Amino acid sequence: MKVKARLWDSLDNNKAQCHVCANECIILPGKVGICRTRKNFDGEIFTLIYGSHISTGSLDPIEKKPLYNFWPGATAYSIASIGCSFKCQNCQNWSISQASPTDNGKNGFYDLEGYQGREMSLVEMTPDQLVKKVVKSGAKTLAYTYNEPLIWHEWILDTAKLLKEKNIKIVLVTNGYSTPEASKELIDVGIDAANIDIKAMSDDFYKKICGVKSVKPVLDTAKYFKNNGMHVEITNLIIPDLNDSKEDILKLCKWIVDNLGKDTPMHFSAYHPDFKAPSKKRTPYETLDLAYKIAKDVGLYFPYVGNINHEQGSNTYCPNCGYLLFERRGYSFKKIDVTNEKKCPKCAYELNHDIIGEINKNPSHKFSFS
Ligand code: SF4
Ligand code: SF4
Repeated sequence: MKVKARLWDSLDNNKAQCHVCANECIILPGKVGICRTRKNFDGEIFTLIYGSHISTGSLDPIEKKPLYNFWPGATAYSIASIGCSFKCQNCQNWSISQASPTDNGKNGFYDLEGYQGREMSLVEMTPDQLVKKVVKSGAKTLAYTYNEPLIWHEWILDTAKLLKEKNIKIVLVTNGYSTPEASKELIDVGIDAANIDIKAMSDDFYKKICGVKSVKPVLDTAKYFKNNGMHVEITNLIIPDLNDSKEDILKLCKWIVDNLGKDTPMHFSAYHPDFKAPSKKRTPYETLDLAYKIAKDVGLYFPYVGNINHEQGSNTYCPNCGYLLFERRGYSFKKIDVTNEKKCPKCAYELNHDIIGEINKNPSHKFSFS
């Protein structure tokens, strides 16, 4: 659906500059920005993906986002659109992230080699329709995920206002490439949590692998979200030979401790070759184990390891005494041992600031869904 965009300035000769993400594209009349979802029509920027969804949604465990310290065991009603502000060579969701909407925003199409001209149908919804579906599903949280949500800015703001009225918690799974003005609007509307992907600590990686200038806007977004009360968890996909050195991992962990705090959950994730496969190797267990140990050594309370079987890295331990609080198998729980007052049963450490929201001790993600 085509809707007038927020956060842009008019420039000379009918050009316009978008401030929704840190690419800050200057868009010529008739052209689109880097994400391909915002277009200049006669000097004004429109989003082409307002209310355009790849499906009516799916019901995921919130642990799949991954968020381990936010509403544990909750179901996340998960929705996506198309497009992305990045062009990551390893994108697992490239079939939606690298698709473009048509001018009226009704369909998506590909201009990728081998896929030119292929179309995908998008489902259109109003904010009211989405909120009704979420409430009916029984999910307590909604996640904007799979493609990059920050480029869906107007839709997120409008739906968030209605979701807040129904007490649905709102989650972004994002590359974090925001601007101060877009981040402020997201905070003001009350987005509850974000998993931010810090892909590496070097501009060089962001240039070569993601096709954008710098890591700095990502770090600024993480700090801004956290300082303004949003629950933040970080993901780092470890790619062999590209961001897997001990120094790379240590630099990231230290930055988190110094800027976001030791209580910030940190998810190291295993890579497998996908899309343009910038590395042909999978991440070995030993590298992820090393990352887990480095995170522990620098003092992070909640390091996790995903996409691979790592026993300690699946679990949540008491930051005070080390007691096993949540034992996980994949996205489900083998054991949850936290008191009803949300304290550690061994040392009575108060967990309210570390584990946000209700703990669903009997998760089932098979709600009615239509
Ligand atoms: S959202 Fe980002 S990538 Fe898209 S047009 Fe705006 S500045 Fe460019
Ligand atoms: S930021 Fe995420 S969705 Fe976008 S291209 Fe990179 S991996 Fe894909």
